[in-house]
Amino acid sequence: MSVISSASGASCWRGLDYYKKNKIINLKKINDYEYTSTVIGTNNYNVYLDVSHPRKSTCTCPLANGKRIICKHIVATFFTAFPKEAKNFEEEQERLQEEYEDYQEKLYNKTRKYISSMTKKELIDELSYVLDYAPDWVYNDFVRRNDIE
Ligand SMILES: [Zn+2]
Repeated sequence: MSVISSASGASCWRGLDYYKKNKIINLKKINDYEYTSTVIGTNNYNVYLDVSHPRKSTCTCPLANGKRIICKHIVATFFTAFPKEAKNFEEEQERLQEEYEDYQEKLYNKTRKYISSMTKKELIDELSYVLDYAPDWVYNDFVRRNDIE
């Protein structure tokens, strides 16, 4: 398990933000796998990073202190020690976002195509179903826009 895959998505994003804002001071390399740092903010926290055993990393912040949690401070320290990992993380997130948008666009087009192929009866049944289960505002909007009342 890597530091990134051991951390939550929120910790990764916040950690990236801290890294970009240079909030990590006193980065010290113990060896190729272990680092220590101080992360500055409202409070300063001390981080011990173990890249080969991420869960052994520690931070003195309230979220991670005494727990085996990879907080944003640990992630920020990791990105500071390995800037290429920060770049990879960002590129991977961009790629996933593009993939997701691509998928959404294809699904939208397929749905439009399917709607065009439906019979009037199918459309009536489907619209009735959607209006029955839609939130009130959708139903009210439908009534208002079609001058039903
Ligand atoms: Zn922390």
